[in-house]
Amino acid sequence: PSGAEPATKIVINLERLQQLPAEKVGPLARYAATIQSQRGDYNGKVLSIRTEDLRSLAIIYDMTPGELTEQLIEWGVLPPEARPSKED
Ligand code: C2E
Ligand code: C2E
Ligand code: C2E
Repeated sequence: PSGAEPATKIVINLERLQQLPAEKVGPLARYAATIQSQRGDYNGKVLSIRTEDLRSLAIIYDMTPGELTEQLIEWGVLPPEARPSKED
């Protein structure tokens, strides 16, 4: 859906990410691992990332940030609440 809105709060479910096949989530998994390494943040079940990072990831996945948001919700990597409400 090209009209999809990008997430405003991006909190990645790291446990779910690990369960998904590498050919789907490889670039995202590497990106998240790099951020964890830069922060020294290895113990979380979730990882909050920058809105700016969603834009970079969307380019990598050849989608709009809104389309990538929908994809991540579909994979269970983002919770459905990450989808901005129409009233926002
Ligand atoms: P929250 O943002 O709703 O996060 C809830 C919990 O999710 C956090 O509890 C933490 O266990 C986990 N979490 C979220 N993002 C990350 C992440 O990038 N890495 C890791 N390892 N865990 C993450 P916690 O730490 O007890 O924080 C409770 C609340 O305190 C947070 O709720 C947030 O409102 C605030 N907080 C904590 N750290 C920050 C921060 O760096 N910036 C801001 N603005 N608020 C923070
Ligand atoms: P940096 O961008 O120079 O940020 C330095 C420090 O500022 C961070 O150290 C963190 O303590 C704080 N900081 C910067 N922006 C935020 C923010 O939006 N929220 C909170 N709570 N703190 C912020 P830290 O965490 O050890 O990160 C070290 C370096 O790792 C950062 O240097 C940055 O280059 C990279 N990094 C960390 N997390 C991310 C991320 O989510 N996305 C990207 N693109 N880079 C990240
Ligand atoms: P947060 O810590 O609650 O920060 C919310 C927003 O405040 C950030 O959204 C950013 O727009 C602004 N902000 C906070 N600290 C800084 C800062 O030091 N420099 C600048 N230029 N802006 C800042 P954003 O970028 O979308 O990040 C969303 C969440 O991702 C942050 O929520 C934090 O939980 C996490 N995050 C982002 N960058 C870092 C980082 O470098 N280190 C750590 N530990 N967490 C980060």
